[in-house]
Amino acid sequence: MNWQSQVSLASKTWWKIGGEAEFYFEPSSFDEFKTSYLEALKKSLAVTVLGGGTNVLVSDDGIQGLVISTAKLNQLKVFEEEGQLFLEAEAGVPKSDLVKEFLKRKLDPALFLCGLPGDVGGGVVMNAGVSENIVPREFGEIVRSVEVLKPDGELKTYSHDDLNWVYRKSLGWEPGLVYKALLSWPLEENLEVMNSVRQATRRRLERQPLTQPSCGSTFKNPKGSDSAGALIEKAGLKGYQVGQAQVSPKHANFIVNLGGAKAQDVHQIIQHIQKTVFDQFGIELEREVRYLGHWDL
Ligand SMILES: Cc1cc2nc3c(=O)[nH]c(=O)nc-3n(C[C@H](O)[C@H](O)[C@H](O)COP(=O)(O)OP(=O)(O)OC[C@H]3O[C@@H](n4cnc5c(N)ncnc54)[C@H](O)[C@@H]3O)c2cc1C
Repeated sequence: MNWQSQVSLASKTWWKIGGEAEFYFEPSSFDEFKTSYLEALKKSLAVTVLGGGTNVLVSDDGIQGLVISTAKLNQLKVFEEEGQLFLEAEAGVPKSDLVKEFLKRKLDPALFLCGLPGDVGGGVVMNAGVSENIVPREFGEIVRSVEVLKPDGELKTYSHDDLNWVYRKSLGWEPGLVYKALLSWPLEENLEVMNSVRQATRRRLERQPLTQPSCGSTFKNPKGSDSAGALIEKAGLKGYQVGQAQVSPKHANFIVNLGGAKAQDVHQIIQHIQKTVFDQFGIELEREVRYLGHWDL
């Protein structure tokens, strides 16, 4: 197996932060994906999957074991059947490729997907979506089934209903690695969808610091209160900085890398936000971003 060792992961994440992978591999076929996974398990190595790297904070100490990147698993099969559009996507297909297919046919899923970076695997795992009241607004709503490579080598198919789609995560498919998802949506044109996508993109550009490295929303929105961003802003933390990491002055739920930030800087900001918001409002903010690698928490 053609694994590389001591590969820097910072350039492979949107935050541009993080140490090295002990071993790193980008399979370009299902066979390579499966063989690398099983080989690592046989050697008792921990296995971590990296998709688009848009929602992860990689430890400064890096990641022990094998990091499998899905970047080259990007086959997308498109077909129409019985009034539905079907997209059969390997885990590494960028969400932007899905947007193109939905937009070509003027279908509603383009609207929630248009602002989501990252790939299909990460979209399934995170049940990625938007908070606006639109249909559909989360990945789970467009997933028909998910194929998961299990630790015993079986490729198991889970239907939409086999899984539990909750706010910013899907449950019921682990242990294993997401290999593919079958997505579908009725072929019912919405003539306004292109216009809505343009407006949503403009709003995001105005409100979010999209030209700076970040992970998008750092925290989930708590139930029954202001959004996480509003709470952080009310707590007076916009612009709060540790090292080269900063709470964005543009959107308080984004922590941006001003250049050369360390994972520890971001972690300290996260802890400070959680403590301050709890002290001021009695609300516990839960992280949306996933920590990868070794952390002393
Ligand atoms: C500017 C910006 C804006 C964003 N806006 C939004 C938004 O509006 N809504 C939203 O929901 N998210 C948003 N995000 C977060 C992020 O884009 C989503 O969570 C996305 O779905 C993550 O996909 P990814 O491919 O980058 O996953 P990664 O970040 O690579 O991984 C996320 C997690 O999934 C695991 N994983 C990834 N692929 C697999 C696989 N094949 N098998 C098993 N595990 C896997 C990883 O190990 C990790 O734990 C934003 C991020 C940025 C940077």
